[in-house]
Amino acid sequence: MNVKISPGNSKLGSIPSVSLPAGITCRNDCECKSKCYAMKIERLRPVVRQAYQSNLELLNNSPEIYWREIEASIMMSRFFRYHVSGDIPDREYFMHMVDIALRNQHCQMLCFTKKYNIINEFLDSGKELPRNLHIIMSAWRGLKTENPYELPEAHVAYSDGTTTACEDAKKCGGNCSECAITNDGCWTLKNGEQVVFAEH
Ligand code: SF4
Repeated sequence: MNVKISPGNSKLGSIPSVSLPAGITCRNDCECKSKCYAMKIERLRPVVRQAYQSNLELLNNSPEIYWREIEASIMMSRFFRYHVSGDIPDREYFMHMVDIALRNQHCQMLCFTKKYNIINEFLDSGKELPRNLHIIMSAWRGLKTENPYELPEAHVAYSDGTTTACEDAKKCGGNCSECAITNDGCWTLKNGEQVVFAEH
C-alpha cells in the first residue's frame, strides 16, 4: 500500500498534499463538524474518501511507510500542504511533521489545525516550531481558540455576514500556489496575524 499524495487541486495549484478522513481525525467538540466541506466532498466523491481512508489505514498499520513516502514527496517539493481534509491525529504524528520539517528546510509546509493542545504542549516544553512548518490555528465560532503563543490564526467569514476575524485579517485569495509564489497568504503570516476564508 502507498500513501496517496494529491498532486494539487484548483485551490492548491500544483502543491502536493496528504489528507486523512475528516471527522475521525478531527476534534469532536466543534460545530464545524456539521458544516464540514471536506466531509461533503468525501460523501460526493468515493474515490477521494477511499484515498483518505487508505492513508489512515497505512498510518495505523505501517507508519514507517506512511512517513517515508510523505518525506520522499517533500524532498522533491518546495511547498507541501498537510491535511486538506482531516487534522493532526496525535502528538506523535506532530513530532514526525516537526522532524521532517527540520530535515527538509528547502520545503515550506502548511498545516491548519484545531488540535490546539498538541501545538501548545509542544511549545510549552520550550521547543520551537521549525521556520518552514507553518502552523495556522484554525478558529470556529463557539470554539475557544486556545492560542497563548499567538500563532497565526485562520477565521471564517460566515454566510450570515458574521465573522470572528479581526478587521485587518488577510482575505484568502483561493489559490495557495499563487500565495506561495508571491510570498503571500498563509505562507508568510506572522504571529498575531490572521487569514479569513469565506464559508463554503
Ligand atoms: S490565503 Fe493563500 S495560502 Fe492561505 S489558504 Fe488562502 S490561498 Fe492558500
